[in-house]
Amino acid sequence: MIKDTGIHMKGGVITELDYDFCTVRTRVPAGNLTPAQLRGLADIADAYGKGYIHVTTRQTVEIPHVDPARLEVLARDLASNNTPIGSEKDEIVNVVCCPGNERCKYANIDTITLARELDARLFGREMPVKIRISLSGCPNACTSPMLNEIGIIGIREPIRTAGLCTGCGTCMEYCREDAIRIRNGISVLDTERCMKCGNCLISCPFGTLKTKGRQYLVTVGGRRGRHPKVGRKLAVLDDDTTVIEIVEKIVQWVYRRAWSGRLLSDQLDDIRFDAFRDEVLAGLEKQKEDGPGISA
Ligand code: SF4
Ligand code: SF4
Ligand code: SF4
Repeated sequence: MIKDTGIHMKGGVITELDYDFCTVRTRVPAGNLTPAQLRGLADIADAYGKGYIHVTTRQTVEIPHVDPARLEVLARDLASNNTPIGSEKDEIVNVVCCPGNERCKYANIDTITLARELDARLFGREMPVKIRISLSGCPNACTSPMLNEIGIIGIREPIRTAGLCTGCGTCMEYCREDAIRIRNGISVLDTERCMKCGNCLISCPFGTLKTKGRQYLVTVGGRRGRHPKVGRKLAVLDDDTTVIEIVEKIVQWVYRRAWSGRLLSDQLDDIRFDAFRDEVLAGLEKQKEDGPGISA
């Protein structure tokens, strides 16, 4: 008889097609695992599972085909390995991110540190609806942040330094969005087309293009699944402290005001989105702008 410890009710424990077994999903913040954690997971998969590990779309790994009677001891081994049981139900699930400026030359922000901080503050919190968070270091959006309930994208807006442009057109060649034109011998930015990817910043041979800094575009209400939907642009924020504050306010809003059984994206259709945005951004004046030309 299975001892009821509550572990089998955790979101990361998923009953399989053969309901005598379950798959156990782990918590892997920012999708990074050390060699020691990987070796530990391999041993755990051998000891409790079917001898293999499944890699999920949300940067976690799962141990398939576990006997539910062994969940309690498995949970202890996973926790000792620093890969505890994860989350999948109406909770805040694994926080996903791309390599960001730790490794990617296109990145505008440190995604990994921010993802870990958000995970530490929010992971596993029970919610009326599932909340997925995804971060990308630039508008290339490799982790599809706008298809998550909360998306964060690193951006940099180019600014031409007055008087120094020679009109050589190098920056125009770099831009994949056709957002730069040469007019009257100088470069002119089309702010509607510019995605604020920052690629052009390194292109100017005269160092004429600058940026006012790295920023964070926050989106809400995206989703994948049966009826995918692109999230709405909520705000452009200047620093990671403010991003954490706003994400916590979104989570708090969802916890207190959203109702279960209906995806957040649908609920944002039902309420006035402007009212939601005003409430979440209360006290933050200049961030209530639309951000770069990423279609939403
Ligand atoms: S989203 Fe941008 S920063 Fe992140 S991996 Fe992709 S190209 Fe690099
Ligand atoms: S930031 Fe990106 S999209 Fe904007 S002008 Fe520069 S290269 Fe083009
Ligand atoms: S690369 Fe620099 S100098 Fe050349 S057009 Fe662009 S901003 Fe002007």
